[in-house]
Amino acid sequence: MIRILKRLGRSMSNKLKGKKDLCKRCGACCLAGGDGIYHWCEYLFFKKDKIPTCMIYDNRIGKKITGGVCVLRYKTKYDYPGCPLNTGKPVHPFFDKDKPS
Ligand code: SF4
Ligand code: SF4
Repeated sequence: MIRILKRLGRSMSNKLKGKKDLCKRCGACCLAGGDGIYHWCEYLFFKKDKIPTCMIYDNRIGKKITGGVCVLRYKTKYDYPGCPLNTGKPVHPFFDKDKPS
């Protein structure tokens, strides 16, 4: 079972590797938190041109952030508005305006 899950993860990772370049660097997937309370990751830095940048990009995976841990994009539980790497998962609750609050 574990081997199947690992293979699935590898296959998904390979599938999305080519898509990584499609990331628009909007920073939307850098939200953390839960129970209706979300915040931007403390490592997300907005440059003067307002482009979000991860301050620890090369070492981000597995890094503890307030309210969670940074994971590879394909391992996130949600889709994000306008993200080319969406795969049909539920939209992140922060952006899901149809969801009753
Ligand atoms: S939401 Fe999508 S486009 Fe935006 S930073 Fe994350 S992966 Fe990139
Ligand atoms: S550590 Fe992860 S969640 Fe935080 S800004 Fe960097 S990529 Fe985004």
